[in-house]
Amino acid sequence: MPNAQEQDVLSGSITAFIIPAEQVACVQPENSLEHALLVLVKSGYTAIPVLGMDNKLNGLISKAQILDSILGIERMEPEKLATWLVSDIMNNDHVSIHKSASFERLMTLLIQYPFVCVEDENGIFEGIIPRSKVLAHLNGFLHDLRRQ
Ligand code: AMP
Repeated sequence: MPNAQEQDVLSGSITAFIIPAEQVACVQPENSLEHALLVLVKSGYTAIPVLGMDNKLNGLISKAQILDSILGIERMEPEKLATWLVSDIMNNDHVSIHKSASFERLMTLLIQYPFVCVEDENGIFEGIIPRSKVLAHLNGFLHDLRRQ
């Protein structure tokens, strides 16, 4: 049985972990793959959200997906970078959570995914929570427990 303090952490709010939308590197479905690759390489992230004009999450796109899409049978086909769009290859089966979700639910998702997208009640993208933010918090929590 978790004690009261542990219970509090598990059922607590996740909003403090959110990196707000304006600080998240993202692209739009109608951007070219070339643009998406530039954003991914310059930001240093493996995958980033794809947001529609309505600020709703459409999917995710990764460096691996882009590289895979320009891999021809006998050679690389970099010319596709300028003509193919993010919407042609993005991953639609993304996972997102509501900002009122519990910390427990967030942790369950972060075991599987390196980051989770957060939406408000209207499905508007609020930001992301990367695994590293939650691990840093848990690390602090465990150290506090040991000190007590
Ligand atoms: P981290 O746990 O900090 O390594 O982040 C895990 C993943 O979350 C990264 O590889 C990115 O895919 C994503 N990520 C983290 N921070 C951002 C950000 N500011 N903008 C876009 N994606 C991010």
